[in-house]
Amino acid sequence: MAVHFDLIVVGAGPGGYVAAIRAAQLGMKVAIVDKSRTLGGTCLNIGCIPSKALLDSSELYYLAKQRFGRHGIQVQGLGLDIPRMLARKDAIVKSLTDGVAFLMKKNGITVFQGSARLIGQGKIAVSGDKAAELEAPALLLATGSEPTPLPFLPFDGKQIISSTEALTLDAVPQHLIVIGGGYIGLELGSVWSRLGSKVTVLEFLPKLLPLNDAEVAGMLTRSLVKQGLEINLETRVTGATKDGAQVTVQVQQNGQAKTFQGDKVLVAVGRRPCTSGLGLAEAGVPTEDKTGKVLVNENYETRLPGVYAIGDLIAGPMLAHKASEEGIAVAENLAKKSGHVNYAAIPSVIYTAPELAAVGLTEEQVKETGRPYKVGKFPFQANGRAKCLDETEGLVKIITDAKSDRLLGMHILGPRASDMIAEGVLALEFGASAEDIARTCHGHPTLSEAVGEAARAAWEKAIHA
Ligand code: FAD
Ligand code: NAD
Repeated sequence: MAVHFDLIVVGAGPGGYVAAIRAAQLGMKVAIVDKSRTLGGTCLNIGCIPSKALLDSSELYYLAKQRFGRHGIQVQGLGLDIPRMLARKDAIVKSLTDGVAFLMKKNGITVFQGSARLIGQGKIAVSGDKAAELEAPALLLATGSEPTPLPFLPFDGKQIISSTEALTLDAVPQHLIVIGGGYIGLELGSVWSRLGSKVTVLEFLPKLLPLNDAEVAGMLTRSLVKQGLEINLETRVTGATKDGAQVTVQVQQNGQAKTFQGDKVLVAVGRRPCTSGLGLAEAGVPTEDKTGKVLVNENYETRLPGVYAIGDLIAGPMLAHKASEEGIAVAENLAKKSGHVNYAAIPSVIYTAPELAAVGLTEEQVKETGRPYKVGKFPFQANGRAKCLDETEGLVKIITDAKSDRLLGMHILGPRASDMIAEGVLALEFGASAEDIARTCHGHPTLSEAVGEAARAAWEKAIHA
């Protein structure tokens, strides 16, 4: 006999579990199904959280080795305990995934562990330890994404690895070859480079991070090269051969054949939506031919009435906070409220050192519109707190409409750019002008003063420049 709910959510990542909580808060009887034994999805288990834990640990090691001396701190006998570093990361993951389980209980959400399959409008079959059939007028698909393999270089989990294995390596590779210079390649490449690996990035395109502001992305690229990452652009991987502990990767670079040899190859060329076994085609839920993403309308409803989809499974940036916002919007719309996602104000962050955070339009995008615009910049080199931290690389760059002074985009390369970009997101949401940001009092001495100064530079003139 089928169990009845108001909403069944499939997938307990940041899209699904947040939607479930919001729906329960709004009075719905909610079930959530996940094939994994721990909740939290890619983000908490094998994505955002474990990668940031390793980025923070590796950064401390790098600073102790390279930069503590500048603070007058002498370190003797500095060493690495990789199993302990991994255990710390695993403990953080466990505390957060346990936290999601607690939140499910607290909000009265019924959790089913097992693989879900659509068996008709409003019907889900769960296979697993406790097989079940569930029914609800609304089904929300939030099954996320998985690493895309290269057809000629399938993952073997040992030498040819995805981000999942790159988060659990129990020893520092001698030479890590990274295919793809995007988010994962640069973040996990940074982790292992700081811990002592030689890291070679092979990127297909002529520049890194083409969706970011070109000036700021160029600065980050130069910084990563200075840190020791070898970055090969316009490099097309054509094949690879394994020879014992070594892998030889064949590439075409500037029309010439070349090879790279390393002990691990991280393939990070993007992610694809997780749809296998969901029964989408049989149930009449179409996906996009090229990307496999589930097609939805502006209310996140698929072609099958009552079946919704969000997060990495649908179009748009594959980011945890984007998935959560969409989850909240679906829950609120189901409760007859006005759920809405402002896609123009979704921040992106690359957690390298320095971090690159952005919201809104890049200078290239503004130029393309043909409208007159102004740019205000302020370097961390001239910021007191950045000097105290010994983190003076980078800048805040603000782009505004020249006529209205309204903020169009903010790009921050620097320490804790990830946290500072929140001011730009809020300003964009509220339709603020550069003058509004400049006249907002920023505490002293803080890194955020650079945001105020860049706004002042876009509006009139920075004080400390
Ligand atoms: P997911 O988090 O992928 O969750 C989907 C869930 O569905 C999973 O738990 C899965 O087990 C379950 N599932 C799948 N199929 C079924 C089925 N048939 N039945 C039942 N359950 C099923 N984003 C950021 O914003 N910031 C970051 O710093 C960041 N870092 C990242 C680092 C790495 C290494 C990776 C890989 C990703 C990172 N991301 C980051 C991206 C982020 O993890 C995703 O955008 C986000 O997790 C997507 O959320 P989601 O809810 O759509 O899907
Ligand atoms: P990505 O799209 O960020 O980068 C993939 C890169 O690989 C691109 O630069 C692309 O040009 C390159 N590429 C593609 N095919 C190639 C080939 N055959 N040879 C060489 N290069 C090739 O993808 P990713 O790094 O795998 O990450 C997947 C997604 O996960 C990201 O798009 C992002 O949405 C999410 N993510 C986010 C964060 C974050 O928010 N900090 C961190 C990690 C992952």
